[in-house]
Amino acid sequence: MNTPRKWRPDASNSGRPHYLSDTERDLIRLAQEPGFPRWTEQIKSAGGCAHPIYLSGRTTTATDTGILIRHYDTANEPGGRLAVRCRNRRETRCQPCSYLHAGDTFHLVRSGLIGGKEIPAHVTGHPRLFVTLTAPSFGAVHRTTSGTSRCRLTRDHSTCEHGQPRQCGLIHASDDPLTGQPLCPDCYDYTSHVLWHAHAGVLWNRTATAVRRHLASAGGVTQSKLPTLVRLSFAKVAEYQRRGAVHFHAVIRLDGPQGPESAPPEWASAALLTQATRTAVKAVQAPMRHAPALGDRVFVWGSQIDVHTIRRALDGGPVTEEAVAAYVAKYTSKSVSDSGGLDQPVTSAEEITLAPVSAHLRALMGTCWRLGGLAELEHLRLRPWTHTLGYRGHVLTKSRKYSTTYRALRDARTAHHQSDSPATAEEIGSVSEWRYVGSGHTPAESEVAAGVAQDLCDLREIKRTLRL
Ligand SMILES: [Zn+2]
Ligand SMILES: [Zn+2]
Ligand SMILES: [Zn+2]
Repeated sequence: MNTPRKWRPDASNSGRPHYLSDTERDLIRLAQEPGFPRWTEQIKSAGGCAHPIYLSGRTTTATDTGILIRHYDTANEPGGRLAVRCRNRRETRCQPCSYLHAGDTFHLVRSGLIGGKEIPAHVTGHPRLFVTLTAPSFGAVHRTTSGTSRCRLTRDHSTCEHGQPRQCGLIHASDDPLTGQPLCPDCYDYTSHVLWHAHAGVLWNRTATAVRRHLASAGGVTQSKLPTLVRLSFAKVAEYQRRGAVHFHAVIRLDGPQGPESAPPEWASAALLTQATRTAVKAVQAPMRHAPALGDRVFVWGSQIDVHTIRRALDGGPVTEEAVAAYVAKYTSKSVSDSGGLDQPVTSAEEITLAPVSAHLRALMGTCWRLGGLAELEHLRLRPWTHTLGYRGHVLTKSRKYSTTYRALRDARTAHHQSDSPATAEEIGSVSEWRYVGSGHTPAESEVAAGVAQDLCDLREIKRTLRL
């Protein structure tokens, strides 16, 4: 291979040398690699993934009688390795993979609402709600204003005990860094905020139990007998608000005893489910006991509750099946980093001090770290979850019967790509041996992958415009 030159004449100003950047030198190296065309193909099939995982190994597929159908070995690939998608759901980590993940989420949520992916179409007739649950207030924060409204405009011109005004009166656009920040950080209850996050999962589980209890009593049966009459299914997504508090959007569906295949009895209506949900959300509590340093506490939902019946797409309105599925899918590609937080776990208190986050998020992370050091709160695992501000749940959780799984959607995609294969699952046996050999891109590889991702994105846009 030729050694890259240190500089080349600049065409626009031929007298002066143009020094190559590290990326330009790396691009020259990459383009001269004999395996470059094949590597580009790999990155194309990985959708232009920004942080591919490199694997080395082999798969052999043969019939029961030992006839070889397919053999694949990375020994023949560039560098003896194969690039596969990182599959990160976060837009900030890998845009192409997060797009794919959001698409899967859309189909997962949508099939639970209108059928498809092994869910019958008559599921549209079952009671379906879209519910938003928020955290309570932990102190006054600046709000995004709209129209002529002003942030926290009151007649109260007094100050808090720390000398901060209790009103604001300013206009804040949605990208105003002040939005979500407390009016007085010293008044803000950081401890309750973090502990609420740590109990949000329990609060949700108790809410689902309370809804079931309400339904059981409406159906005139005990809670243990309820599954013989109706089943409750849900899919919920967690979203971080600007104030750094999680809130949840959930699709709740009521089925008959066999799940989505069976219709619920007449009495189990959308109106009853709405009433059961509202009652449950207002009543449930998640207690924290045996914490002498902090005292017994009880966690509840915030007062802002939204419960809507999901309408069929053809009936129109803002809360249709498609709109709900798209809304939920959008939030699975977000994380706390979209609210200015960190994507990665924190490993020391010093990291929090140096983190490029707002003072408010730094205070939340600091509180998480400090409380995580208390023996009585060990079970809440606050330190490993400092970057999520104490919230331990997945971004999307769903009950078993809601609809399909990410795994099934991925398998279906793989099967689609291999549809030219003459073998069926019964006929074949596969032997695979794989190991991880590395991940990520060099600067030049990163540029090429970003170009591939952009091309795929443009292609999607063209297809969408032409409705192909
Ligand atoms: Zn990726
Ligand atoms: Zn304000
Ligand atoms: Zn104050």
